[in-house]
Amino acid sequence: MSARRPVLEMREVERHYAEGTRRLTILDAASFTLVAGEMVALVAPSGAGKSTLLHLAGLLEMPDGGDVIVGGRACGRLSDDERTAIRRNDIGFVYQFHHLLPEFSALENVMMPQLVRGLAPAEARSRAMQLLDYMKIGHRAEHRPAELSGGEQQRVAIARAVANGPMLLLADEPTGNLDPVTAGYVFDALEALVRQSGLSALIATHNHDLAARMDRRVTLDKGKVVPLERGA
Ligand code: ADP
Repeated sequence: MSARRPVLEMREVERHYAEGTRRLTILDAASFTLVAGEMVALVAPSGAGKSTLLHLAGLLEMPDGGDVIVGGRACGRLSDDERTAIRRNDIGFVYQFHHLLPEFSALENVMMPQLVRGLAPAEARSRAMQLLDYMKIGHRAEHRPAELSGGEQQRVAIARAVANGPMLLLADEPTGNLDPVTAGYVFDALEALVRQSGLSALIATHNHDLAARMDRRVTLDKGKVVPLERGA
């Protein structure tokens, strides 16, 4: 565990929302570090700020204070284009709902981010197929999302999230919409992928069994990221 490279660092991050005349503080000097190869569960009640934290970590939102450092690059002062490039190349997202493009096949959905990045179609197709096979869904590659089960859709969404070989995977309740057995299988595949590829992952979940399988568990308390105590 000694001195592994930090992949994500959140330094004293602030996030506030205006609610009428009141100021709602979601993150209050929140600091958090995720090192290479680490898989961390973010477990907190609804409304605590999990999605906000993930959006900030994923450079989808700007903090009101502090900074987010991805792969050693402080992102606060980067241009929109530079942030977009980091998001596209270095960060993968998985949401509770798959957000696949309905008019495209599973395979095309996983090819898409690679094509946007400029990869040749043949290369993108070959990598997409490999990932779908790895997620045990290669036999459904030509199907559209509506023809897939919830668990299959999430497998495709996970394959798409890692299509460009990111260093950081952010997932917001990735199995929250699945029954417990399917959730377990999808998480097995996700975990195998993360472990095999050396990715770092921050995964918000309500599922304590899945959280228990990760390297560490953190929660949000008064706007700060703190270790989740056993049994909490
Ligand atoms: P969680 O993911 O833990 O359920 P969120 O990060 O979605 O929590 O939300 C944290 C709090 O911030 C909630 O009280 C939510 O209503 C509020 N919030 C989130 N986004 C906004 C926004 N754009 N404007 C105002 N309040 C927001």
